[in-house]
Parts: sequence; C-alpha cells; structure tokens
Amino acid sequence: MRTIHFVSLGCVKNRVDTEVMLGVATGGGWRIVDEPDQAEVIVVNTCGFIGEAKKESIDTIFELAEYKKLGTCKKLVVSGCLSQRYPGQLAEQMPEVDHFLGSSDMMKLAEVLGGSAERMLVGNPADWVVTATDPRVVTQSRASAWLKLAEGCNRTCAFCVIPQIRGKQRSRGADDIVAEAERLVAGGAIELNLVSQDTVAYGRDLAKEDRRALAEVVRRVADVKGVRWVRLFYLYPETIDEALIELYANHPRVVPYVDMPLQHAADAMLKRMRRGHGKDRQKRVVERLRSAIPGLTFRTAFIVGHPGETQAEYDELVEFVEWARFEHAVVFRYSDEETCSAHELSGKVPTLVAANRARKLMALQRRIAREKNRALVGREMDVLVEGPSEEHELVMKGRHAGQAPEIDGSVYLSEGEAHAGQMRRVRIVQASDWDLVGELQDEPAASKAPRKRVALKVLGGSTGETRWQ
Ligand code: SF4
Repeated sequence: MRTIHFVSLGCVKNRVDTEVMLGVATGGGWRIVDEPDQAEVIVVNTCGFIGEAKKESIDTIFELAEYKKLGTCKKLVVSGCLSQRYPGQLAEQMPEVDHFLGSSDMMKLAEVLGGSAERMLVGNPADWVVTATDPRVVTQSRASAWLKLAEGCNRTCAFCVIPQIRGKQRSRGADDIVAEAERLVAGGAIELNLVSQDTVAYGRDLAKEDRRALAEVVRRVADVKGVRWVRLFYLYPETIDEALIELYANHPRVVPYVDMPLQHAADAMLKRMRRGHGKDRQKRVVERLRSAIPGLTFRTAFIVGHPGETQAEYDELVEFVEWARFEHAVVFRYSDEETCSAHELSGKVPTLVAANRARKLMALQRRIAREKNRALVGREMDVLVEGPSEEHELVMKGRHAGQAPEIDGSVYLSEGEAHAGQMRRVRIVQASDWDLVGELQDEPAASKAPRKRVALKVLGGSTGETRWQ
C-alpha cells in the first residue's frame, strides 16, 4: 500500500481541511503513516495568518523537505493558507516542493496522488466549503469533532488577513450541517464543536429561502440523537440573538461556553481595528451573556501592540480584563501583515513594548484563571474522557464543559479506571493555573468501543495559552 504522512498547522478550521485531505487519501487507497520517514508522499497543511505562524509553516516545510534528500519521500505537497497567500514566492523559493494547493483545494489532492496534477493548484479561495458528502477522517480525541458552519469572512478588521486568504463568507445549508453532524455522531463523536470565521454571521450570505437562524441550526445539531455537548466558537461581539441566548441558557446539550474574540477594549483602539463597535457594547454583551446563561464559561482573545495603541489604551484593556474576569483568554502580539489595512497606520508599537504588554496581560489572565479554577475544587462535574495524558499513559485526562478541546486546559483523572470517549462524573480535588485534577465518582456505563484514532501531527496554535486566530 502506498504511504502518506500529514502535518496540520494552525487553527482548527485548517484541521478540518486536513481531515478532508486524509479522507481523499484513504479513499484513494493510501495508508496514513505516523512518521515522515515511512511516507512516499508528505503533505503540510500550512497556516499563513501571522508572522509566527508563517515562520512555523516555512520551518516545517524545510524540515520535511529533508526526507526527499534521504530518498524516502517522493513528493512534498504544501497546501492551505500560506500557499494561498504567497503562491508565486513559495513556488520560486521552494523548488523542493512538488505541488502547491490553496486553502480551498483540498479535493485536488486526488489529482496529485493520481500523478496527473500540475505543480500549481492554488485556486480561488472562495471556491469551496466542506460538505457532508466530502470524504473526511476525524483525527481528534475519540469522542469529539469539529464541524464547520461556514467558511470565509465578510468583515474588514484592520489587522486580519483571513478574508484575503479564505475569501468571502460561504455558509453551509442547514440540512448539510445536520447531515454531517449525524455522520460524525455515527462515527463516535458525542461532542460537536461548531466553527467558522464569524459564527454570528452564519447564514447571512445564503439565499432567502435557504437562510436559517444560527439558533435554529444549533438546536437541530444539538437534537441529533447521540450528541451530548454542542459548543460554539468565534462569536463576533454583536448583540447576540435572544433565541441563541435562550438556547444557551436552557438547552441541556448546548454547552454554556461562549468563545468571543474581543481583540481590545479601548474605544479608539476598537475603531482603529475597524471592529464596528466600542467598549460599551462589548460590556453590554458580556453582561447580558453572564446574566442570562447560568454557569457561563467565557473565552476570548486580545491583540496588544496594534498600531496606535497608547499606554493609556492598553491600561484600559487591562482594566477591562480585571472587570470581566474571563475564564479563558489568550493574548496575541500584533503581527504587521503587509496586505492588511493596519499596516498603513502610523504609531507602530515597538516590538519590546508589545511583548511586555502581552506578557503582563497574560500574567493577569493567569491569575484570574487560577482563581476561577480553584473555585471549582470540591465540585462534581461531567468530564468527557479523552485518553491517556502526556504525563503517563495510565493517567487519563478529559475536559469538563467549560474546557474546549485543544485550546483550554484539561482535567487529569488521578483515581479510578476510565476510557476514552466516556462521559464520567468527576469530583475536582486540585487546581492549577490552567488544569484540574479530579477523582471519578461513578461506575462506567457500558460504552461502545472507541473509534480508532488516526495519527496526525498537529503543530502550533493549539496549546492552552496560544492559538492562531
Ligand atoms: S478578525 Fe475575525 S471577524 Fe475580523 S476579519 Fe478576521 S476573521 Fe473576520
């Protein structure tokens, strides 16, 4: 059997695209291998969102290109956001790469593997969005899967290159989303994580007869038989639809977890960032969500060091974080991307100043997260067991409803026997800044054999403290 190795970089949306390519490869009879030195073809699905992510992508490509010199690898394929963004430069500067695919070209991997493809296969980024009938091999922990609601973004945030590399928003039809949810559940998932670039804008681009409210789609997904947790990501801080709030507050399977990147909190900064609202609206949204949704976990992201950010504006952001006391927040240093409108702004913040601001804000968030985690000690909660921890294969880890896969912390199970894919009752006995330790309180229900996990190397952007985009 012919062998192929994948590396997936960047965000979870890229991860879904990698999983589609895995589906294309396995459907074509290829065997996925864990180690690049065993592969005839190596695919790197890149990220090109900010400077650090670009560097990581380039380093990874060069590292894997070494296997061509050793003679084991016959073809190196680079796909995703970096090749979508810089096709010409990469083609010129990376002669060792055999094929380039863009961010919407996952299905073209079949041509590459068939041997009939041209070198450059970077198409229009707005051409494709995954559908329920596309092949896909889920690589996440056994009982959890990402589900894309839409691709692309219609907003014009000054610092963000996403609309250029992912194209305008294309929402999937509600029936197609539900069909994929059913397929994922049939494959063993009990947690579905709904993602897009701008989730509150879901459906706005669809024809009137196909348009459905986000709340209606979320409800239909949550009502798929076998689903235990549905989680939403990337909610823009607009006034949130009351029907969605109602769902969050009352639907037993819609997890009270809001992921809402706020980016900043000072009015003048939000204006320079072209966010379309000010601090008051953000405060109102946070207050409304906190008051309406019992036990809400709030995750957000901020950028510091954006052009024009004064010390006073940064201080206002710090004050806002103190006020809001988010359960999870990640802080990025502004990355000056040449094709974004923020690049043209004056008042660039020195790198060291931005790094210091990021460090201090993250230290504050660490303290808040620690306090929030400590308050959970003694509580009993449902934990979705994910599998053995990195510490030891006999120590299992999982997540409670307030911890999203791959980006938040974990609950380590110190006592009792648990298996991946089980939902168990756990009492929290210890807390650290990001993680918790718990003891099993229940007897396991008979559970189906866990789905076999496909090996996929996922790099970057998915640890507790950082995430691209
Ligand atoms: S930051 Fe988010 S909402 Fe703004 S342009 Fe980028 S993807 Fe769209």
